[in-house]
Amino acid sequence: MLQVQQLVKHFGGIHAVDGVSFDVAAGECVALIGPNGAGKSTCFACIAGQYPLTGGQIMWKGQALQGLDPAQRLQHGVARTFQVAQVFEALTVLQNVQLAMQAGRAQNSISTFKLLDRQSNAAALSLLQETGLHALAPEEAASLPYGAKKRLELAIALAASPALLLLDEPAAGLAEAERASLMRLVKKLAGRGMAVLYTEHNMDAVDGVADRVLVLIEGQLAAQGSFEEVSRDAEVRRLYLGEGAAHA
Ligand code: ADP
Ligand code: MG
Repeated sequence: MLQVQQLVKHFGGIHAVDGVSFDVAAGECVALIGPNGAGKSTCFACIAGQYPLTGGQIMWKGQALQGLDPAQRLQHGVARTFQVAQVFEALTVLQNVQLAMQAGRAQNSISTFKLLDRQSNAAALSLLQETGLHALAPEEAASLPYGAKKRLELAIALAASPALLLLDEPAAGLAEAERASLMRLVKKLAGRGMAVLYTEHNMDAVDGVADRVLVLIEGQLAAQGSFEEVSRDAEVRRLYLGEGAAHA
C-alpha cells in the first residue's frame, strides 16, 4: 500500500503541495483531480522521486521512499508516466518495450543492448497486444500518432511489472473514444491487483473509472470519495466544478 503522509512541497514561496495525506491500496484505482496549478504533477513527482520533499513522508509497503531515486523506486515496483509522453523516439515500438523490460533486470547498458538482440520477444509482444499496440510493433516510435505514444509510454511503465503505477494525465490530448479505451485498460490493470494513481482533467476519464477520487485545490485535499460524492461536495463545486469553470 502507498501511504502519503502530510506531504509538503514548496518551490521557494510557492506552496505547490501543502500537507496532503492519502492511501492507495493494491487493486485500487484512484484519481487525483483538481484545477490547473493545484499541485497534482508536483504530488506525483514527489511520489516518483523527481523532487526531494519539503516535508512529510511517502511510504510504500511500509518503507519510506524518501532518499530513493526514480530507478531505485522502480526496483521497488513504483513506475510512472509523464503528462507529455516520453518514449525512445529512434527505436521501434517493440524495441522500446524490450529495452524497458531488460532495464528492469540488467544494470549494465551495453549488456542490455546485447541481450535485446537475443532475447525472446514474446513477453514484449504480449505486452504490446495488451496495450493495443501489436500492429505497430515494427514502427519507429517517432512516427506514432500521439494516442499511440501515450499507450507506448504506458507499455514501457508496465514492462517493469510495477505494483504501483503512477499516471500523470494518461489520457491528455486524446480524443474521447481513444480516452475511453485507454481508461478501460487502466481500470483493468487495477482490477488485476496493481495500485493505480492517476491525475486527470477530463471528468469522463474519472467517472466510472476511479474507485476513489481525491480533489486537490491549491495544494490541499478539498474532498475525497466516490466520483458521485465529490461531485456533490459544495466546496468542490464552488472552487472547481461549479458554474462552467474550465476543466482543462
Ligand atoms: P497541476 O499538475 O495540478 O497543474 P503543478 O503541480 O504542475 O500543478 O503545479 C503546482 C504549482 O507549483 C503551480 O503554481 C506551479 O507553477 C508550481 N510549480 C510546479 N513545478 C514547479 C517548479 N519546478 N518550480 C517552481 N514552481 C513550480
Ligand atoms: Mg499537471
